[in-house]
Amino acid sequence: MTFGISLPEITAAVTRRSLSRSLVLALVFGLSAQASPLWADQSGTPTARGTTAAAAAVIDPVTTFTLDNGMQVVVVEDHRAPVVQHMVWYRVGSADEMPGKGGLAHFLEHLMFKGTDTLAPGELSAVVARNGGQDNAFTSYDYTAYFQRVAADRLELMMQMESDRMRNLRLPEDAVATERQVILEERNQRTENDPSALFREQMRAMQYLNHRYGQPIIGWRHEMEGLTREDALAFYKLHYAPNNAVLVVTGDVTPDEVRALAETTYGVIPANPELPEHRNRSVEPPQTAARRLSFRDPRVAQPYMQRSYLAPERNPGAQEQAAALFLLAQLLGGGNTSYLANALQFDQQVAVFTGAYYSGTSLDPSTFDFVVVPAEGVTLEQAEAAMDQSVAQFLEAGVDQAQLARIKLQLRASEVYERDDVDRIGNRYGRALTSGLTIEDVRDWSRVLQSITGDEIIAVARSVLRPEVSVTGYLMRQDEEAPQ
Ligand SMILES: [Zn+2]
Repeated sequence: MTFGISLPEITAAVTRRSLSRSLVLALVFGLSAQASPLWADQSGTPTARGTTAAAAAVIDPVTTFTLDNGMQVVVVEDHRAPVVQHMVWYRVGSADEMPGKGGLAHFLEHLMFKGTDTLAPGELSAVVARNGGQDNAFTSYDYTAYFQRVAADRLELMMQMESDRMRNLRLPEDAVATERQVILEERNQRTENDPSALFREQMRAMQYLNHRYGQPIIGWRHEMEGLTREDALAFYKLHYAPNNAVLVVTGDVTPDEVRALAETTYGVIPANPELPEHRNRSVEPPQTAARRLSFRDPRVAQPYMQRSYLAPERNPGAQEQAAALFLLAQLLGGGNTSYLANALQFDQQVAVFTGAYYSGTSLDPSTFDFVVVPAEGVTLEQAEAAMDQSVAQFLEAGVDQAQLARIKLQLRASEVYERDDVDRIGNRYGRALTSGLTIEDVRDWSRVLQSITGDEIIAVARSVLRPEVSVTGYLMRQDEEAPQ
């Protein structure tokens, strides 16, 4: 039962990252298996395949249809092993919460395991375990998802239980009180005890002036303490309905089988006519001031600087800007051969780690981020100045065409390898469809990435990397001097 921003595109793209790099990523972004079990880098060691395969067109083995009640269904077939992953994704996340109710989406995610008329508290997970499977759930800004991984012949049982809790949730008051303590402890463990997590929370709160992406998914402690049974039930009744959900089944199953089972389980649940036509999101005003913060904590092991810029997200039928930003992140900070690594780590030796990150799968505007971990004896100010100078030089020089071609070829290769991981494909569709995108957009993404030119990348970089939409943060030990 996790929460957090996943950075799957980053982990997917970093195909040859070294152990030390993954350790630094874990340090900086909390990208550990435990933090995000589903999206921990699952790519593993790709099986040997040549560039001929990599250059071939990749078409996901995906079938989609919609039930009469509006529930969207995605099936990704893979008959190599008799297992399935069954997921239900709701188009609701922490950014859909009412002001003052921070953490409610994630709280409800926990409460969804408290039972129904026919399932005792915890029984769903117990049944999954008894059948040799695994189950869990996760919450993000734009979605909440529940999944089980089981033997293929247990799919119907999973669909019965998951559809049951879509409309028959029962919440005893004492179970709500107990679970409130659980999420508060989760905040202790994953945020309060981690200076990097507290720092990121401050960065986002400063990045978003008006949008709820600035509020933590887990919630601010004082609001979490006030979440009630009534809050959870009201949120559940409005948002948990088939016309607000996407069913994703991957593995050893055919679309016809999924359709037949879905019609008798989810298909009998009426659509919720009260569901708002558009998700209720506040919009960012123009951002007009560069912002800075220093976060000090005696527990900081490794000081570093981070810079984030408000950045456009992928939009239906208009993914070019996002694709250019994705490639920009790869060029500037996508590994040990990137521009910043060459400039700051190898040439000038002022940094021990550099990275650039962008994830465009988001309903509303995202961020483009840089991280620089200075070398010993280099101040955060010096590291920041070196980074700014390098980025300016990159924009001036233009994109290295050979480097861009190499990155595009790597992306194609990783798409081929990814076909071996249908759960990952399923996750990609689930995320996209709950983040405002369509099936066509997911299918188109690779083609759009390949079509982007160096000039387009420089143009989008100039439009996004502007001081007035930025936040610069220093994560420091308690005893260090603040800038200025
Ligand atoms: Zn949780």
